[in-house]
Amino acid sequence: GKNFDRLCTYSVELTGNNAPKKALLKFEDAPVTPKILENIKKAGYSLPTPIQQWSIPAILHGRDLMACAQTGSGKTAAFLIPVLSLLLADNESLMKASMDLSTPSPLVVILTPTRELALQTHKEIRKFAFQTVIKSCCVYGGVSVNYQLNSMLKGVHVIVGTVGRVSDFTRNGKIDLSHVKYLILDEADRMLNMGFHDEVVALTEKCGGMRSEQRRTMLYSATFPVEIQKLAFDILNDYLFVTVGLVG
Ligand code: ADP
Ligand code: MG
Repeated sequence: GKNFDRLCTYSVELTGNNAPKKALLKFEDAPVTPKILENIKKAGYSLPTPIQQWSIPAILHGRDLMACAQTGSGKTAAFLIPVLSLLLADNESLMKASMDLSTPSPLVVILTPTRELALQTHKEIRKFAFQTVIKSCCVYGGVSVNYQLNSMLKGVHVIVGTVGRVSDFTRNGKIDLSHVKYLILDEADRMLNMGFHDEVVALTEKCGGMRSEQRRTMLYSATFPVEIQKLAFDILNDYLFVTVGLVG
């Protein structure tokens, strides 16, 4: 297995209401649905990594989050496990999103800087949402827009995609982001380095606005330069901050 032992210095800023009181040291202690726990086991994960120990409870407590941890520290499951679990508990929204087939209206949007990361994250979604009602689609450039649109028209709860392709779909009015309850920006530092700042802000506006209280928003990044700090301040609402560093 993987060794995450050297990842253990946290800086956790836990302020305001609904801040988790302690780290999640075992997946079984998280209030997630049994099916998701089963899928975590099937993935071969025995213990939460340091970023997962704080990210999972923070999101389950309903807080926005700025999470900073190096590549390979387990950030994908840190947001997928709690978000998919909260989504499964929201039957009413799941049903509504499956019914309206004229315009895909996802409940969860995960933005990535690249196609490879979108595909990789989609694989993880399928793993954690295995044998649940959750429908997910992956969208990225370089392939037919119509093919991707047709698969979303079969009903979609979770869209994972590149900033570029998700922006194309919203600009053309092909997808409706006004029902998004969870917006996740993964590898936010790379997004900004690639010049996507304005697209990210425009998409956040489409997902209910900057610092929306109706939506939960999470930013994940491997580094924490001033541009990311500013983006977090601009788009997150009353957020928690978690960072994991390297010891030794
Ligand atoms: P990051 O996004 O921080 O770069 P990933 O989410 O891609 O990291 O995870 C890195 C690797 O660690 C992946 O192969 C993933 O399956 C594995 N992994 C993540 N969390 C755990 C865990 N709790 N136990 C074992 N392996 C894990
Ligand atoms: Mg990652």
